[in-house]
Amino acid sequence: MSYSILNTYDNYIDANLHMMQLQEEGINCWLKDENTVTIDPLLTNAIGGIKLMVHETQKDRATDLLRTIVNKAKENRACPYCGSLNVEYIFSNRKTSNWFSAIFTYLLGGYALASEKMYHCFDCEKEFAEVKEVVIPTKEGSADAL
Ligand SMILES: [Zn+2]
Repeated sequence: MSYSILNTYDNYIDANLHMMQLQEEGINCWLKDENTVTIDPLLTNAIGGIKLMVHETQKDRATDLLRTIVNKAKENRACPYCGSLNVEYIFSNRKTSNWFSAIFTYLLGGYALASEKMYHCFDCEKEFAEVKEVVIPTKEGSADAL
């Protein structure tokens, strides 16, 4: 059993996201040094970040899949409200008191981190989940509070 490094990360959010997406495609992969980086971010540089390890026999396929995942993620980063690409990935606390994030959670059911992964738009100051296709009701929308 030999594994090699497919990619490296300086944060565990992207690392976990990519690992889960590859695993959904049947790729045998895991994260190395994840705990070290999470516990002490200052060590990240020293140890070279979180490594996404993939089994040698699946590396070619995993490389293609990862490229697709990354490209798709870029497309999805456009703000659904204003179309801006000035958007940052944030790790938001569960705002289940907020009815529209509750809907997101419902629509994305089964995706464990869905309610916590959000993007923040620096142009219109709105937050949204990464799935752009979800239709956001604007009537009574707390997102329009601004
Ligand atoms: Zn925006």
